[in-house]
Amino acid sequence: MSKTIAINAGSSSLKWQLYQMPEETVLAKGIIERIGLKDSIVTVKFGEEKATQTLDIADHVQAVTILLEDLTKHGIISDFSEITGVGHRVVAGGEIFKDSVVIDDQVLAQIEELSALAPLHNPANAAGIRAFKNILPEVTSVAVFDTAFHTTMPEVAYRYPIANKYYTDYQVRKYGAHGTSHYYVSREAAKLLNKPLEEVKVITAHIGNGISITAVDGGKSVDTSMGFTPLAGPMMGTRSGDIDPAIIPYLIEHDPELKDAADVINVLNKQSGILGIAEVSSDMRDVEDGLLAGEPKCTLAFNMLVNRLQKFIGQYFAVLNGADALVFTAGIGENSTLVREAVVKGLSWFGMEINPEKNVRGAEGDISTSDSRVKVLVIPTDEELVIARDVERLK
Ligand code: ADP
Repeated sequence: MSKTIAINAGSSSLKWQLYQMPEETVLAKGIIERIGLKDSIVTVKFGEEKATQTLDIADHVQAVTILLEDLTKHGIISDFSEITGVGHRVVAGGEIFKDSVVIDDQVLAQIEELSALAPLHNPANAAGIRAFKNILPEVTSVAVFDTAFHTTMPEVAYRYPIANKYYTDYQVRKYGAHGTSHYYVSREAAKLLNKPLEEVKVITAHIGNGISITAVDGGKSVDTSMGFTPLAGPMMGTRSGDIDPAIIPYLIEHDPELKDAADVINVLNKQSGILGIAEVSSDMRDVEDGLLAGEPKCTLAFNMLVNRLQKFIGQYFAVLNGADALVFTAGIGENSTLVREAVVKGLSWFGMEINPEKNVRGAEGDISTSDSRVKVLVIPTDEELVIARDVERLK
């Protein structure tokens, strides 16, 4: 009997989920927001209960202290010794980490060195790791990398067609992201299809605020839409996805508000995608309300998103030379009947057809018609569970 915490530490937030392992029961979960700012918000959910408090939390060490105090205060655990493992999501593992790993001083130093590839994320992930090591030094901690699942991509997929020296000297290549999610749903898809994982080809579409599409052949990622950074791929909530890179110097030259490349990248990351076109919001629910009301900008944003998703899915049919299933997952993929319907409608030539009676709110599993040669699956992702399982496997 052991309890494992899965941690997802961002620069100003820390999300966590506590599991009873090996039963995989979720005992509690929570989020600490606005770390380092005034009025940080601490939310804990356990059983039917939800507790919220507002206080000033200076850094990740204090956040972890409060998280652990909350666990005992609410009677979720009686002693810290019940926690036998901590799993940390780490965004960039570069070419070093092909699997999850037990964190020692060297691993932690490598995670910090890889910050060049994920400047917003890896330092926050490392801060979360250090905070737990400070407070629970004896507990096994495991790093689970967003990029690890994609390290099986062949060189033709991960290399960019730019001079070799940019890869050899500067490590510029495709790393991908959301790997834990694509890993999880591709395995669940094989179960639903009732086929051995090695024989299954699936296209997994993680469509949330961030969006990535992956081609999975025999359980291995062979191509994915995110690139050197998570800015690449279809348009997303606030990210542009793929654009002509020549737009960047053009905007620096012509828009007085944009002084340098960092300014443009900031716009491409935070003010583009669905938000940039719909303007009203980056949240798909608001955009769908606008679409149904006939609002032109929301309609364009919806149609552009569908178009970009279709083009990436089409590419991966080519990469895989056919597929058994398309999997929808994450906030939009799991919940938006409209996006699923519109995307699949335009891909009927590939042998996919949705059953409208199955494509309803709360749908899970196979939503395609019995004639559909390529199955359309809705699979809720569970990245925290993968993290907790990896802690069990490695500790
Ligand atoms: P993140 O990448 O931040 O983890 P999520 O996977 O939670 O994001 O996805 C958030 C997106 O899911 C938002 O655009 C939200 O509007 C969308 N979403 C959630 N529920 C619905 C719904 N019922 N219909 C349409 N979109 C939804």
